[in-house]
Amino acid sequence: MTTHSLAKITPRKIAIVGAGQAGLLLGCALLDQGYAVTLVTNRTAEEVWSGKVMSSQCIFDQALQIERDLGMNQWESQCPHVNGIGLTIPTPDGKGEMAIHWRARLNAYAQSVDQRVKMPGWMAEFESRGGDLRIENVEIAQLEALTESHDLVLLAGGKGEIVNLLTRNDARSPVRHPQRQLALAYVTGMERSGPFECVNFNLIPGVGEYFVFPALTTKGSAETQACDIMVFEAIPGGPMDRWADVKSADQHLDVCLGILRDYLPWEIERCANVRLTDANDVLSGRVTPTVRNPTLTLPSGRVVMGLGDAVMVNDPITGQGSNNATKAPCTISMPSCARVTSPSTRHGCNQPSTAFMRATQSR
Ligand SMILES: Cc1cc2nc3c(=O)[nH]c(=O)nc-3n(C[C@H](O)[C@H](O)[C@H](O)COP(=O)(O)OP(=O)(O)OC[C@H]3O[C@@H](n4cnc5c(N)ncnc54)[C@H](O)[C@@H]3O)c2cc1C
Repeated sequence: MTTHSLAKITPRKIAIVGAGQAGLLLGCALLDQGYAVTLVTNRTAEEVWSGKVMSSQCIFDQALQIERDLGMNQWESQCPHVNGIGLTIPTPDGKGEMAIHWRARLNAYAQSVDQRVKMPGWMAEFESRGGDLRIENVEIAQLEALTESHDLVLLAGGKGEIVNLLTRNDARSPVRHPQRQLALAYVTGMERSGPFECVNFNLIPGVGEYFVFPALTTKGSAETQACDIMVFEAIPGGPMDRWADVKSADQHLDVCLGILRDYLPWEIERCANVRLTDANDVLSGRVTPTVRNPTLTLPSGRVVMGLGDAVMVNDPITGQGSNNATKAPCTISMPSCARVTSPSTRHGCNQPSTAFMRATQSR
């Protein structure tokens, strides 16, 4: 008898904390395999939809294929395609000329669906597949209760405070401070550039980076909800790090455009008619790239396993977080791994072993 059919006869109970890319994808994948899944998250779908932008979430083909395989690609036909990557490095003399410039097609397109569109949609999908969705802010007491009532508890709390319960893996976390000041703006009205849509990546030595690509958002242009996402990565304290005193979304956009005017004339040319899609569609902050140890032992001795950003948070410049958060659930839910909840690995208690969790995470 296969693990999957076992799961259907006696559904194992799995709890996931966090309704992001990692938690919702895994939740739906496990429901499809016959597990009973509880997903606890601290924001309602409406709060996510009407809240501030959270990411630029560009996802490449391997990860998109996982979404397709799981039937989680609801926005694929509407979302603009990112067909290539472009890299431009201006000359160091500040004359606004290109020292290096190339564009190349990807083998298959990438896409970025605003998480404020995707997560509410996936929350509804999770419930329609039979999942138990609960809105609650999870702390240690709730983790204890979940580990008591479920066979496995996964913590996919992203950058939420709770993930700091997972200890930092010093050996795998070489930096202790943010390497960049980040800023995002979702805009409409940007001129298209080149024969195909790219992530246009501009690297300004000693100053920072700017990349821009099309996406699907909650607002955007009336017919399509298409927008462009402008992402700035400033070296902290450097000449591009200009958002500290910004008080409004419009001021934020002015700062962004001022940087393009100062360093990247070919990008400001595209921006004559840009406007923010919404006052909520700007973000600034800093991320310290961190790897955490993947398991947390609660005061009761029961163990929780981390997932997605909870275990490894990259600087967004890598464009990896959402892609990793898609692949990690796939590793856990794939058939060879589904023994996580099979009786043969339960060691006489209701949980898989810590060693098993660590081995799964290290894949
Ligand atoms: C500016 C920026 C740009 C980015 N651009 C890209 C990109 O282009 N490509 C890419 O691949 N990645 C990108 N990323 C990274 C990507 O957004 C994250 O890696 C990804 O969202 C992580 O998914 P996750 O499911 O682990 O966490 P999240 O998506 O953050 O989900 C965490 C969930 O946990 C919930 N939660 C938190 N605390 C609690 C609690 N105590 N109780 C209950 N629920 C809780 C939250 O509400 C949320 O639902 C970017 C990130 C940033 C900041």
